[in-house]
Amino acid sequence: MKKYKRYLITSALPYANGPLHIGHLAGVYVPSDIYTRYLRMKDEDVISVCGSDEHGVPITLKARNEGVTPQEIVDRYHTINKKAFEEFGIAFDIYSRTSNKIHYETASDFFLKLYNKGEFTEKTSEQYYDEEAATFLADRYIMGTCPQCGNESAYGDQCEKCGTSLSPSDLINPHSTISGSKPVLRETLHWYLPLDKYEPWLKKWILEDHKEWKANVYGQCKSWLDQGLQPRAVSRDLDWGVPVPVKNAKGKVLYVWFDAPIGYISATKELTAEWEKYWKDNETKMVHFIGKDNIVFHCIIFPSMLKAEGSYILPDNVPANEFLNLEGDKISTSRNWAVWLHEYLADFPGKQDVLRYSLCASAPETKDNDFTWKEFQSRNNNELVAILGNFVNRTLVLTKNYYDGKVPERGKTTPEDEAVLREIPKIRENVETSLETYRFREALKEAMNLARLGNKYLADAEPWKVIKTDPHRVKTIMNIALQITVNLTIILEPFLPFSMQKLRNWINFSQVKWDHAGETQLLTPGHSINKPGLLFEKIEDEEINRQVDKLLATKKLNESGVTNTVPAKAPVSFDDFTKVDIRTATVLEAEKVPKTTKLLKLKIDTGLDIRTIVSGIAEYFEPEDMIGKQISIVANLEPRTIKGIESKGMILMAEDTDGRLVLVSPSEKVNNGSLIK
Ligand SMILES: [Zn+2]
Repeated sequence: MKKYKRYLITSALPYANGPLHIGHLAGVYVPSDIYTRYLRMKDEDVISVCGSDEHGVPITLKARNEGVTPQEIVDRYHTINKKAFEEFGIAFDIYSRTSNKIHYETASDFFLKLYNKGEFTEKTSEQYYDEEAATFLADRYIMGTCPQCGNESAYGDQCEKCGTSLSPSDLINPHSTISGSKPVLRETLHWYLPLDKYEPWLKKWILEDHKEWKANVYGQCKSWLDQGLQPRAVSRDLDWGVPVPVKNAKGKVLYVWFDAPIGYISATKELTAEWEKYWKDNETKMVHFIGKDNIVFHCIIFPSMLKAEGSYILPDNVPANEFLNLEGDKISTSRNWAVWLHEYLADFPGKQDVLRYSLCASAPETKDNDFTWKEFQSRNNNELVAILGNFVNRTLVLTKNYYDGKVPERGKTTPEDEAVLREIPKIRENVETSLETYRFREALKEAMNLARLGNKYLADAEPWKVIKTDPHRVKTIMNIALQITVNLTIILEPFLPFSMQKLRNWINFSQVKWDHAGETQLLTPGHSINKPGLLFEKIEDEEINRQVDKLLATKKLNESGVTNTVPAKAPVSFDDFTKVDIRTATVLEAEKVPKTTKLLKLKIDTGLDIRTIVSGIAEYFEPEDMIGKQISIVANLEPRTIKGIESKGMILMAEDTDGRLVLVSPSEKVNNGSLIK
């Protein structure tokens, strides 16, 4: 294996339109943190960069749904996610963001360099344009009927009902989600990265030179390359993102897949003036930690961009994980099917390491894996408490009781003692081999074997019995148990940083150098330890049941379909809003309009006048139910003649997801004609 001078660790930039959940931690950030901590403990020159990915259509859509600006959305989730990482001990050297000025400059420069080298192709194509809103419509800004399943609310890039991926031209009856109008096709110019040009080079670089990549990563790359690569647009028509820095590119920004990975470079620039040695020197080992949905971007597209630019190094490895499911179902933000990190911390305060442990122990390294609360409980109770916690507690309590907390001398050792002492450096080596090859589950299991070894050693040697007959022998046993304990604080540090810090405080040991792991004289006789506490606590069924119940409630809510909300309408100005005259009124008379099924003719008192309104509510209300009801109306809607009756205004109704109509009435009686504002 090549020996590198320094390391650059990148972790997928989380998308700033929602909070983080356990799938993110298990797939990307726990493994990247373990690896980085390990390298730091080895005194390697390493930096770990990450940040929020803040561009793209889902963010602008969310902003529109909430009636706020995209900047407000990304500010909110950048803050929440940065805090969650800190709380879980994910120790990036920098957590930056792609809405930073330095990123705009870096991404623009990167584009210009490729542009000036003639690395892009330009192409004019026809795209949907909203004439009312005067804007091109990116995928999610178009809705229409899915040609596959007939769902009338399919998006321009995907039908969420049947899962088919679509392009806007596939939709039947497309309409703009901004204005609701029917879009027209218009010509627009875009720049493309000709990935096909890099195909032969990628084939050699990945398929021949990187056979050591994980099977799931290698396999996905091979399948992309076998299908053949197509030119990919690097720009799009949108008003949120890094503007395309050339003439005749008004209203165009860099496509988010192009600008996001450049975010790693900008973050490094922001962190250190020496950023170039991490990005442009072959003595640097670059490793991308990502989830499987990002494999094509980090193994095929970003390397092609770096290759086209010409002065950057390429990743040495991309140890992508598969997906973590939750209780047998795919984690989903829109269905709220997730364990959110901020909620976990509120429910299990101080138990960050338990989640880190549990997620690493069942990480989806080679295939999708399932998180269950039962398994979480059993990892805590049967492993952290019963093995690691038990061993440490026995060792420290006995040392306190027998020797007033002073490390005893090691006397003559038995063959059993020697076997245990020989095992410690072997475990270190095993952990190291697994970590170097990105097998974190295996590394954790090996590291826990050290606690198992200690536990078994004490159980076999029974110092609590031997103390009565051979107190001299017990000093040797406890000395060895303490050497195992101090080794645990090093070997488990990358996995359980909070608990190992605690343990180091108890044993008065501050060194966390990986090179000391495996040594068996780290605590010298006479060294004082402090009063120990409990490293881990049992998690009771009650707490687990509460979490399971919470998920069951979510499932029930999802099945009832109440989340099936109509997308938001376009924003209106306050001036426009105030033009609508909404006020209270009381129904005086009501009768069915003859020869119709839906229409009621109502005489109402608006406080201004007594007038007639025809309303399509007869399927939901009997005339006698309406009389005397106080309601809300739009009083200044232009009069319309319906079935020969002049209707002056409109009654306000809420339409439930099943189509049922409900009156919108003031919650207390007010004077007729009271303005609603
Ligand atoms: Zn469909």
